[in-house]
Amino acid sequence: MKVIVSGIGASPSYPDIAAALADVRGRIAAACRKAGRDPAEVTLIAVSKTHSASRALECVAAGQRHFGENRIQEAATKWPELRQSTPELCLHLIGHLQSNKAEEAVALFDVIHTLDGARLAEKLAGEMSRQSRRLPCFIQVNTGREAQKAGIDPGEADQFITACREQWKLPIVGLMCLPPVDEQAAVHFAFLREIALRNGLAQLSMGMSDDFESAIAFGATHIRVGSAIFGARR
Ligand SMILES: *Cc1c(COP(=O)(O)O)cnc(C)c1O
Repeated sequence: MKVIVSGIGASPSYPDIAAALADVRGRIAAACRKAGRDPAEVTLIAVSKTHSASRALECVAAGQRHFGENRIQEAATKWPELRQSTPELCLHLIGHLQSNKAEEAVALFDVIHTLDGARLAEKLAGEMSRQSRRLPCFIQVNTGREAQKAGIDPGEADQFITACREQWKLPIVGLMCLPPVDEQAAVHFAFLREIALRNGLAQLSMGMSDDFESAIAFGATHIRVGSAIFGARR
């Protein structure tokens, strides 16, 4: 009996990455046109967490250069090899970072999106100077004040931003948020932008597969898109 094995490309949970990426880029361009913004101001971060190195490589081959991972260990097994063949890759840490993993994070990543406390700020500052690596940092703000979510309380954001700059001399470039799933993301995007503006921060890391167009309308400079590029995660 002949067994026919269907290709994984046929399954809807494994989209053609090049096509999905082109679609997302088209949607970014359209959202920018609508908002009167230059698409060059918006960095697309392809969130490859849970997806294999070979899927990530497909995405690199399709021209993508910025990637996001949320776990140190997973990034450490997946990315060093991929980086060797494409040195211009930029790796973004988008998941919570424990301060005892700061050393590894500074060695492995290029940008930190999840600076969320004084202990971490102090450890990151120490590691950056020890390793002579200055990683641009986004401060994560818990705009929904959710107990289970990481991030600085919005009421303490101004003070924390100042401490990061003056006390720890960290290269703070912007703010990041993850809006509550059951609320209108736009309200949180507007709130984050307001905090960034009054603190003179130019960059905003906000917007995911379901809401990046809205984030772009509210000034996102970095959008973090996973499932719209790689398909659903298991
Ligand atoms: C997983 C993740 C994303 C991507 O989510 P999608 O809905 O798959 O686009 C973005 N940001 C953070 C912080 C994430 O953990």
